[in-house]
Amino acid sequence: MNIRKISIMIVLLPGVLIAACDRQLPELELTGATMGTSYSVKLAGVTENANTADLHREIQSIVDGLQQSMSTYIEESEVSRFNASRSMEWFTVSADLCGVVAEAQTISEFTGGAFDITVGPLVNLWGFGPDGSVAAPVDDADVAEKLMTVGHSHLRADCTRPALKKSNPELYIDLSAYAKGYAVDRVFSHVAESGFDNFLVEIGGELRSYGRNARNRPWSIAIENPDPASRSVHSIVKLSNKAFATSGDYRNSFEFEGVRYSHTINPRTGKPVTHSAASVTVVADSAAYADAVATALLVMGPDAGLGFAERHDIAAMFLVRTSDALEQRASRAFAAFTPD
Ligand code: ADP
Ligand code: MG
Repeated sequence: MNIRKISIMIVLLPGVLIAACDRQLPELELTGATMGTSYSVKLAGVTENANTADLHREIQSIVDGLQQSMSTYIEESEVSRFNASRSMEWFTVSADLCGVVAEAQTISEFTGGAFDITVGPLVNLWGFGPDGSVAAPVDDADVAEKLMTVGHSHLRADCTRPALKKSNPELYIDLSAYAKGYAVDRVFSHVAESGFDNFLVEIGGELRSYGRNARNRPWSIAIENPDPASRSVHSIVKLSNKAFATSGDYRNSFEFEGVRYSHTINPRTGKPVTHSAASVTVVADSAAYADAVATALLVMGPDAGLGFAERHDIAAMFLVRTSDALEQRASRAFAAFTPD
């Protein structure tokens, strides 16, 4: 029985409303690996069949294609070829990559440079890129040298060509804070176009939901406790037709002399974020936007970040470490997604 049939029953037979709502429909989960993490697509009210097998193959090919274009971990990816080129002429890329870069540039401007895909050389210097990790903070002189190559104003995207252009030969772009969200949006559109109307797409913790879950309720999403050592649930948000992303310092970071250095870099200082905000969760219409804005808010920190979220009506929730507890600080718009 599909969700539409249930809603018809609800109209005709109020007596069975509770039973119908609580009824557990089948749920099919399609999973796989991509972008150094896993993906999951949950389809409510669906059982495995030839169409879902096709869909699974199509999803895998979408995420593989995006990874092949946008990963800095793949030497021959489009992004890596652009990064390796020292030319300051227009460099032809796919329309997809150009669109992603143009959108990332818009978010850089919107966030006052807190989100900046040209931060790549610093990500690599601090040991969070393809060159491997470091165990201690790096020298200020090295940071200052790399900072000279960073800045979204050194990068242009002209998607009528489509092509990218650097005004500094060392410019290097890193799409890691955007690509997973973007891939979620692409898979989401494909699943919707394939005729499904109750599903949840997730890649490495970035999500986008449509319709309702197998219990005919909004999808429930867990926000993790920002604990590097274990996985546990901090709280739940309820989503229908919304995207969700979290940026945190607890999965990819190192600790040195009592300070946690996160893989999120402040493009102004050239240094990893070390303030008290352990994670930021954003709920928005698209996963790419939520992914990028969560990173930007983490760079801004809890005070400036919450102020920014309020001014722009962004649904955001910070988990902040205080001396003895974890404090939850959310923007007004976030309340719409927390259970009553
Ligand atoms: P996650 O990958 O854990 O979901 P994010 O979405 O915040 O977390 O992405 C973090 C990654 O983005 C870093 O590993 C780095 O590659 C890149 N990055 C770090 N700082 C910035 C920044 N200020 N702007 C854009 N990208 C960044
Ligand atoms: Mg992000």
